[in-house]
Amino acid sequence: MSQIDLHTHTTASDGTLDPADLVRKAASDGLKAVAITDHDTVGGLSQALRAGEETGVEVILGCELSIDFKSGQMHILGLFLPDPPQGLQTTLDDLQDRRNNRNDRILAMLHEAGVDVKLEEIQELAGDASIGRPHIARVLVQKGVVQSIDQAFREYIGPGGAAYVPKDKLDPETAIRILKQEGATVVLAHPYSLEIDTDELRELLGRLKEQGLEGVEAYYSEHTPEQTQTYLQLCREFDLLVSGGSDFHGSVKEDVGLGTGKGNLDLPYSLVRRMREARGETPSA
Ligand code: AMP
Ligand code: FE
Ligand code: FE
Ligand code: ZN
Repeated sequence: MSQIDLHTHTTASDGTLDPADLVRKAASDGLKAVAITDHDTVGGLSQALRAGEETGVEVILGCELSIDFKSGQMHILGLFLPDPPQGLQTTLDDLQDRRNNRNDRILAMLHEAGVDVKLEEIQELAGDASIGRPHIARVLVQKGVVQSIDQAFREYIGPGGAAYVPKDKLDPETAIRILKQEGATVVLAHPYSLEIDTDELRELLGRLKEQGLEGVEAYYSEHTPEQTQTYLQLCREFDLLVSGGSDFHGSVKEDVGLGTGKGNLDLPYSLVRRMREARGETPSA
């Protein structure tokens, strides 16, 4: 049974539970600590922090940034952000502008493909959240254009789809620098998604560590036991912190549970303790 989950999404980005509900769920599921790591936003953090005070769950403030990389997907997590973050907000505002432009382009391409979706329809579903493709996918399902979120990505908004628009991303060095300036512990998320082999990953970790990377999310819902072992070994090799998280998104990723992932996660509190030690902090528990 996991005691922690260091990778979760709320309605502040593309999850379906609001930050307070996610923290309350963490409490009722028996987690000691949970990190909120929404895509390119810190909008859910203060609400989560308040729910943490109510429930006694240790809430770690974070965010997940999408990074420009030659293959697959590179995501970097910043953990232990201050409340409120300072300079990071400027970067996030800029990313939000770029995201809004991208959403407009996706809707224009959907229109060209004969599918009419209005921005207002997506805003209504997304509420205060930063709009991402999962929201667009949900509206496409609601309108009966497709049968499933997966089909929405395959046929329309994913790579190769009729309305695919890649995201403008930060380069790794910039992302790491901005997160470090904010005092975050910087972790490479779900390395499997880079789609590179172990030798390439080793080379990459060497470079990212020089730029300030401090940890790797070795434990992750989608990682096979072999991948997990490889990533743990690389953490030892590079003296990097081990992180672990489910990437919980609520009901849009029904098969991924908070703390449990796909039933493959057993995350001990000691991962948080080591991170706090590396930060020179005294653990709260
Ligand atoms: P965006 O940030 O707008 O590019 O959206 C990225 C989000 O889309 C991530 O949270 C992914 O988990 C989600 N996503 C990507 N492909 C799929 C898919 N085939 N089915 C469901 N969600 C997906
Ligand atoms: Fe997501
Ligand atoms: Fe990610
Ligand atoms: Zn994530």
